[in-house]
Amino acid sequence: MKTSLMNKFLTDKVNNLAASATLAMAAKARELKSKGIDIIGLSLGEPDFNIPDFIKQAAVKAINDNYNSYTPVDGYLDLKEAISRKFLRDNKLSYSTNQIVVSTGAKQSIANVVEAMISPGDEVILLAPFWVSYSAMIKICGGVPVVVKSDIGSNFKVTASEIEYHITSKTKMIIINSPNNPSGSVYNEIELREIGKMLENYPEIFILSDEIYEHINYGLEHFSFASIREMYNRTITVNGVAKAFAMTGWRIGYLGAPEWLAKACVKLQGQSTSGANCIAQKATIAALDANIDRIKYMIDEFSQRKKMIINLLSNIKGFKLNNPDGAFYIFPDISYFFGKTINGFEIKNSTDFSLFLLEKAHVATVTGEAFGAPNNIRISYAASRENIKEAIDRIKSVF
Ligand code: GLU
Repeated sequence: MKTSLMNKFLTDKVNNLAASATLAMAAKARELKSKGIDIIGLSLGEPDFNIPDFIKQAAVKAINDNYNSYTPVDGYLDLKEAISRKFLRDNKLSYSTNQIVVSTGAKQSIANVVEAMISPGDEVILLAPFWVSYSAMIKICGGVPVVVKSDIGSNFKVTASEIEYHITSKTKMIIINSPNNPSGSVYNEIELREIGKMLENYPEIFILSDEIYEHINYGLEHFSFASIREMYNRTITVNGVAKAFAMTGWRIGYLGAPEWLAKACVKLQGQSTSGANCIAQKATIAALDANIDRIKYMIDEFSQRKKMIINLLSNIKGFKLNNPDGAFYIFPDISYFFGKTINGFEIKNSTDFSLFLLEKAHVATVTGEAFGAPNNIRISYAASRENIKEAIDRIKSVF
């Protein structure tokens, strides 16, 4: 009955839409927890730190100063000025305030751009593995995701010529995400410049550069695609405060783009969510204006946890591990287990493997299939050391 109501009353667009695998797994873990099952959640990319006090204080001040009205659709001017300073300071990018749009999370910034630019039939190149929601956003607009594959052997990176091979007359956009969710791989300046050089021959292709993990970087210099002079006018730089400042629930993301595109995003946003939350915007100014050393303790801790999880997982036969340079995920190849039955559980693919870990080890991870990498699973190490240790002990014990 339910299914027939869905078919009758919902649009094909929604009926054909896959639920976000990251959020679905987090919801499932929460549900099991509420039933009293002791699940360790390593599915969501969510720092377990508290928000730094200086950011909290800015939020409290905004409340006491009575910031409570609707905000400008594109964001407070003083926040856009802070974003403009941040782009210049960290990324050598010059974006004026009318090229900047503040949104309810970087996710909305990306959705706005895709909705503003992708028409039915347009192709968007995704570099696998890619974050789960890119492909869904493209499909919502009738666009076609075109996937350039990579694997652990190439450290989950693709070359300019591999991308070029997938370009057609319908290619409208390429989405680059470095540091990458889910692999943690970071494209260096040379690799990005090679992609830029190749794209000089394709002047009508736009590049969406998702840099939300910019600061979660273990040593390689971050390089912004828009800082390639020839690419600036057709690159959209997306960032936000969720990951670096442990502000996931505050939902503030932003983009820098050519002015005409920023205007289009404002128009779209003005007809959907309007401006982002007033208190969170004011807190974001404090975050972006702070010296980046103030959050270094979190990056250092993620780096330690990365070493720890690699160490622990390397003791389990069948996990082929990568060594991420950024973000807070490890993305092992677990195809060794395909076709095996373990503990009475038949593992045919990475989704089965992730469900197996949930059911038997009570550890939540995310299937690689959702990221266009069917041999892998994503394990987030944005969790406490105790939880990471306990989770990997449990995983080890079920084999
Ligand atoms: N981006 C995070 C993740 O991949 C948050 C969840 C989501 O919105 O997908 O875990």
